[in-house]
Amino acid sequence: MRRVRNAATGKKATAWKNFSAYIRARDSMATTGTLEYCKCITCGQVKPIDQIDAGHMIGGRKNGILFDETITHGQCIACNREGGGQYEAYKRIMIERNGLDWYEGKERQKREVVELTDEALVLISKLYLQKYKELTK
Ligand SMILES: [Zn+2]
Repeated sequence: MRRVRNAATGKKATAWKNFSAYIRARDSMATTGTLEYCKCITCGQVKPIDQIDAGHMIGGRKNGILFDETITHGQCIACNREGGGQYEAYKRIMIERNGLDWYEGKERQKREVVELTDEALVLISKLYLQKYKELTK
């Protein structure tokens, strides 16, 4: 039998959808100056936006890092899905940009137990929908 989605799952999915749309738009603009193409964070190839995910530097999709803008970037489907996230390359790039202390802080952040309440998820959804609109208007 299929598991019925509860309300929290639905709110989390909506929050992710808006967050992901913002990240992909942000990085498309930052890397190509358009909303149609984005340069992948790990392989560096420029791809159409429909082949771009919002990929995390650290795996696991834990609550403490799931909605962290600083560790999530436009990443092509080939790297994010087929390539398993390309975490080693991703880590190297981010340490070059931000330093090892920063990276280790994010590893610690992942292990923190964070509860995403319905209220928090609604706020995250609204925030990123707003940020997406600002960027794409
Ligand atoms: Zn890639």
